[in-house]
Amino acid sequence: MSLTNQPDPEARRRVVAQDLENVMHPIVQHRALETSQIVVTGGQGSTIVDADGSTYLDAMAGLWCVNIGYGRTELAEIAAEQMQQIAYYPHTAMNLPAARLGEQINTLMGGDYHTYFVNSGSEANEAGFKVARQYAKHEFPGQFRFKTIARHYAYHGTTLATLAAGGMGERKTKFEPYAGEFIHVPAPTCYRCPLGLESGKCGMACAKLIEATIQAEGPQTVAEIIVEPIMSAVGVAVPPDEYLPMVERICRKYDVLLHVDEVINGFGRTGKMFAHQHYGISPDIMAIAKGIVSAYLPIAATVVKNKVFESFLGEVAEARQVMQVNTYGGHPVSAAVAVRNIEIMLEEKLPERAATMGAYLMEGFKDRLFRHGITGDIRGKGLLIGIELVTDRESKVQLDGALVQGVVDFCKANGVIVGRSGGGTRHSNTIVLSPPLVITRTECDMLIEVLDKALEATVAKMN
Ligand code: PLP
Repeated sequence: MSLTNQPDPEARRRVVAQDLENVMHPIVQHRALETSQIVVTGGQGSTIVDADGSTYLDAMAGLWCVNIGYGRTELAEIAAEQMQQIAYYPHTAMNLPAARLGEQINTLMGGDYHTYFVNSGSEANEAGFKVARQYAKHEFPGQFRFKTIARHYAYHGTTLATLAAGGMGERKTKFEPYAGEFIHVPAPTCYRCPLGLESGKCGMACAKLIEATIQAEGPQTVAEIIVEPIMSAVGVAVPPDEYLPMVERICRKYDVLLHVDEVINGFGRTGKMFAHQHYGISPDIMAIAKGIVSAYLPIAATVVKNKVFESFLGEVAEARQVMQVNTYGGHPVSAAVAVRNIEIMLEEKLPERAATMGAYLMEGFKDRLFRHGITGDIRGKGLLIGIELVTDRESKVQLDGALVQGVVDFCKANGVIVGRSGGGTRHSNTIVLSPPLVITRTECDMLIEVLDKALEATVAKMN
């Protein structure tokens, strides 16, 4: 069904019944799906269509991923062509699209990287942990570097190790005991500094704590630190400009690898191709997913600096090769679609567009939303924006969860899909926005208007 197709309420009812009877959905409570669901049948640009004919401005780009927007039918043609040529062969061999995609990524990273292909962001980080540990075995034979330093409230994926690396309590507690050896340090969530310090006057205490943690753990035990440059799911935490360069200096000082999670941040989302490029740092390991293919098919990757890659070279008898494999890695069809997705991003200058439209949205939000006392903070970079809601700006007490959910529901009822931060009790009161990078000014205006009305209605409810 495209945007012009007729709604089909009977078919929709059948799909809902069939789904509720047979399908288990992620993260949403099934009971809620009985009364409110989207049965997506089409999409174009930033808009999705429900089988009942409703259209929604999708200000989340799915799950922060449809960067080039919906309805790019040329990608379907590329997938069909590649499937007719060769649909699959394991990546222990080579194929054209994966080689080209590796080259594109290396070029975007400045030419000093190799790419290992996987299927999801979780897997990309998981492979990153393993690359860091294996690298340490090769390079520091007398040491035992197996620990990863991670940050509180981070999200790095859904597998046991990536969950352990993450710091979102609500996502973790059902799965104890956790995997691996992950040491958590406070994150630069400056609006609510975990160290109780004032932004701009803190001397980057949270970055300094990373050094103290490495020293306390013993540098000879630490393999890497993982950071998402701009923390997304926790409510869009943009670090101070000095933070990431300081983290990088600490990594270099102690021979600890810098593992950057660009699963959401990457591919134009923040106004540059990769978010770490805002800060002039150079990752040793980088996880990418989502925007690499704008979610048209599954593919993701762990990108490693050549100094790391070279550690995996040697004679066959040395067994230094990457000691992992996945069936679908470097899938030719996904890779072919990803190659064209990246070409489209470059041709249409989508990272630059994200910077421009992000600035437009930010200005509109600041202009309109601060008139409501419940708007605590508006922050972001490019088209990754968080609007933190509080009971009042003075106290910064978090807005009650039901009211925050009410904002999300109001927006949906008015044709706009917005997200809400996770992170447990401390950080779940932020409306998060991550629209397709092709969002238009008119759509930005609609988003501002609907959020303005949603906050107005929320304040009215509170009085
Ligand atoms: N890292 C970050 C920062 C993410 O936001 C996500 C998912 O949203 C992941 C990793 C995991 O990616 P995936 O869901 O593709 O496994």
